[in-house]
Amino acid sequence: MPSPVENLRKFLNLEIKRNCDNRAIVGGLDKILPVWKRDASLYNLSPVITVQITNCILAYSDLSESERPAAIADMLMLLDGKPLITENEPVEVVDSGTGTGNPSEQLKPIPPPTINLPIRGNPQSVSINHHEEQTGLDAPLTVLQGIGPAKASMLRSLGMETLENLLYFFPRRYDDYSRLKPINRLTVKENVTIIATVQSGGTYKRGKPPRDITEIIVSDGTSPLRLIWWNQTWPIRTYRPGMQVVIAGRVDLYLGRFVISNPDIEQIEQEHLHTNRIVPVYPLTSGLTQKAVRKLMYETVSFWAPRAPEFLPASIRNSADIETLPLALRQIHFPDSLDTLDQARNRLAFDEIFLIQLGVLQQKFTWHSLQTEKINVSPEQLKHLVKILPFELTGSQKKAVDQISLDLASEHPMNRLLQGDVGSGKTVIAGLAASIIADNKSQTALLAPTSILAGQHFQTLLRLFANDDNDIYPFKKDEIRLLIGDTPEPEKAEIREKLGSGGIKLLIGTHALLEDPVVFNNLKLVVIDEQHRFGVEQRSALRRKGKNPHLLVMTATPIPRSLALTVYGDLDVAILDEMPVGRIPVETNIIYPLERERAYIFISSQIKKGSQAFIVYPLIDQGDNDEFLSAVTEFERLQTDIFTEYQLGLLHGRLKSDEKDQVMEKFRKNVIQILVTTTVIEVGVDIPNATVMLIEGANRFGLAQLHQLRGRVGRGSENSYCLLIPDTENAIENQRLSIMAETNDGFLLAEKDLEQRGPGEFLGTRQSGYTPLRMANLSDIRLIEKARAEAQSLFEQDPTLSDPSLKPLIQKVNDFWSPGKGDIS
Ligand code: ADP
Ligand code: MG
Repeated sequence: MPSPVENLRKFLNLEIKRNCDNRAIVGGLDKILPVWKRDASLYNLSPVITVQITNCILAYSDLSESERPAAIADMLMLLDGKPLITENEPVEVVDSGTGTGNPSEQLKPIPPPTINLPIRGNPQSVSINHHEEQTGLDAPLTVLQGIGPAKASMLRSLGMETLENLLYFFPRRYDDYSRLKPINRLTVKENVTIIATVQSGGTYKRGKPPRDITEIIVSDGTSPLRLIWWNQTWPIRTYRPGMQVVIAGRVDLYLGRFVISNPDIEQIEQEHLHTNRIVPVYPLTSGLTQKAVRKLMYETVSFWAPRAPEFLPASIRNSADIETLPLALRQIHFPDSLDTLDQARNRLAFDEIFLIQLGVLQQKFTWHSLQTEKINVSPEQLKHLVKILPFELTGSQKKAVDQISLDLASEHPMNRLLQGDVGSGKTVIAGLAASIIADNKSQTALLAPTSILAGQHFQTLLRLFANDDNDIYPFKKDEIRLLIGDTPEPEKAEIREKLGSGGIKLLIGTHALLEDPVVFNNLKLVVIDEQHRFGVEQRSALRRKGKNPHLLVMTATPIPRSLALTVYGDLDVAILDEMPVGRIPVETNIIYPLERERAYIFISSQIKKGSQAFIVYPLIDQGDNDEFLSAVTEFERLQTDIFTEYQLGLLHGRLKSDEKDQVMEKFRKNVIQILVTTTVIEVGVDIPNATVMLIEGANRFGLAQLHQLRGRVGRGSENSYCLLIPDTENAIENQRLSIMAETNDGFLLAEKDLEQRGPGEFLGTRQSGYTPLRMANLSDIRLIEKARAEAQSLFEQDPTLSDPSLKPLIQKVNDFWSPGKGDIS
C-alpha cells in the first residue's frame, strides 16, 4: 500500500499538470476521501493534518480554477508536515479574561487553536490587527487571518461573503454552562443542556420495517441517560466511552425511560467550563468544525463589532430604549449573561422591524404625495346606490363605504386594504366603489385570482348593480364585462374596443386583464380581490393602465394586527368585523378515518333536505403518492359506491376554465348535489345552498386555510356543518384541529396559525420585498408597535428623511429593501 502522503501528493501534482480541472481523480478530488482518510489513520498521520487536508479536499470542487493552485499548495505543505501559518503575528485575543498572574495557567476566553485554519502563505494578506484602515465591513472574508479560498468557500456556502455577513452570522443556540442540569433532575419535555461522560453505546434494529437505532448511554454521576438516533450509526464511531460531551436537546420518555432523541452533541472543550459561561453554537457546513467557527467568530467579533457603524440616531436608541449596535453584535455572539443576550436580541430585532417600517411608511408617503383627479361623491348619490341593494349594509360595511368615498374624494390616490372574514360582504363594497366611479364617467378594473371567482363576481355585480330599464342603477348591463383567459378571441377584441372607447365601465377578470392590448379609456379604480394571490408586479402592471388610479385591495385572510402593521403598513385599512345578519356559525366536528361512513350518512341526510355538499381533498390525483386520498380517484368511488342516487361533480385546478364554469354552474343550479373538489374552491366561491363541507386530510392544511374552506358553507340561512377528517388518528398531531371546532373567528385562528406555523402563509408574495428576518418575530406586537411609532415620528419630523445625520440609516433601508422591489403595494 502506498503511503497516503505519497498517494495524495501524486494526484495533487497531476492536478497541477492538468491546470486544476479537478479531473485528476475521476469524479473529483473528494472521491479519494474515504480511502484516503482510512489510510491516513492506518499510517498514523497526525489527526490535525488529516482534518486540515480533509477540509481542503472537501472545499476543492467549489473553488474556481484560479483559486485551486493555492489550495493545492496548502495541501502539499501539509503533506510535508509543515503547519500553515502566515508570517503575521498570531491574533491577539482582545478580552484576555481575568488571569491568575501565572501565564501558564491563565485561561483565555477562547483557547488558542489546536487546528490552524489553512491560509495563504501571503505576507501581504491583511491581518485584522494591523491594517484596519484598509478594510471596511464589506471586505471579503479572505482579509481575515486564517481564511484562505478553501475556508472562504465553505463559509460562502453558509451565505457569508463579507465581514458584515460574518458579524450577522448568528449562533443557532447557546450552551449555558452556568445553568447545567444534573441528569437526575431532568423532567419530561424540557429543553436542556447537559454535560456527561460517554459510558457505552450500541446499534440495534427495531420496528417494522426494521430501522437502525443507535443508543449511547451517558452519565454525569447523578444518573445515566440514553441518547437515541434513528437510522444513523455514526455517533457510535464518533463518541467513544470516556469522552466528555455536551448534549442539548429535548427530554422525552421512551419505553418508560428518559431519552433525548437526535441530540445536539459535541465533544466538550474544557476551557468553556471555566471561562465562557454562555457559549455560542453556530450552524455548520461540512468541513467546518464548531471550534474553528467559534474561534473565527471570536476574533472577528472582538475586533469588528466595536467598529460596526451605528446607523440608528441616538435619539431613536434612547426613546426605544435599545443597545448600541457594537454592543449588540458583541453580545449576540459572546453574551456576558442571559440578560445582555436578551438586550442584544432586542436591538437586532428592533433593527429588522424598524427597517421594514421605514420602507412601508416611505411607500405610504410617496403614495400620498401623488396627485389624482378628485372623484365627486355626493351623499345623495350614495344613499340611492345603497337603496338598490336587496339587503341592508352592516355597520362595518357602512363605515368602509364612508372611508372609501372620503378616499376617492381626496386629490391623492386611495391605497386601501379592505379586510374582512369570509362572508363578511366585501364584494358589494367593491361594487359600490365601482358604481361611484361609473357615475363619474370613469372605469374600474376588478382583478380576481381564479376564473371561477371572476365569473362569480361578474354574476353578482351584474345582478346587484346593472339594469337597462332603471336609471337609478349605476350600470347598464353591457357596461360590466368579464375577461378571462378563455374568453373567445372575437369577444376579447370587442371588449378591448369598448374599453378603449369608454363603453365598458367595470371590467372584471383574471390575469387576462394585465395583458398589454388591454387598454382603458379612463381607469380610475383598481380593485384586487384576494390580493395575497398576486405578486407585486401584477398589481403595479394593472395600476399602470391608469393615471395614478385609486387602489382597493381586498383580503379574506384575516391577519393578526402585528402582521398587518408589518406587511400592510403602507396601506390604510378598513375592516369588516361584522357578519351580515342571520348568519349562523358553522358547526365543526373532527371525525376519525374509521368513522367516515357516518359522515357519508350525514351528508345524505342533508341532501335529502334539499341542501348541497362539498367534499374536499388535498390532492387532485394520486400520482405516485398513494398515501393520501385524492379528488379524482375518490370521485369515482363516491359516485359509484356511496352516493349512487345523487349527481356528483368534480372540480379541480387542472380543468379548463370552461369545464370549471360548467361544473360550477351545474352546482349553482343544484343539478349537481355534491361537489368533489380540491382547494380551488378555497377562495370566494359563494353557493348559499351548500350546507355541508367534508374536508379529507384536514391535518395537512393550515388553520387559516381551513377557515377559508369552511367559509364556503354557512352562507345561507340554514344550519351548516364542517366535518374534518385527518389522515391519522394521532391525537397530538390532530390537537391543532380541535380549535376549528371551538371557534368561527377567523382572526383568532389566524393568530393561532401564526403561532404554530410562522408567518409564511400570510405574507403571500409580500415577503419577497425585503431581507428575510432572522431576529424579529412577526407576532411580537409590542416590538412592532414600538418600531412603527419610532418610524412614524421620524417621518413626521423629517418627511423626506433628508437630514445628513440620517444618511447611514437611509443606506441601511435601501440595502434591506432590495433594489427594484420598492413598489410593495
Ligand atoms: P366575502 O367578504 O367573503 O367576499 P361576499 O362578498 O361573497 O363575501 O358576500 C357573501 C354573501 O353575503 C353574498 O351572497 C352577499 O351578497 C351577501 N351579503 C353581503 N353583504 C350583505 C349584507 N349586508 N346583508 C346580507 N347579505 C349580504
Ligand atoms: Mg370574496
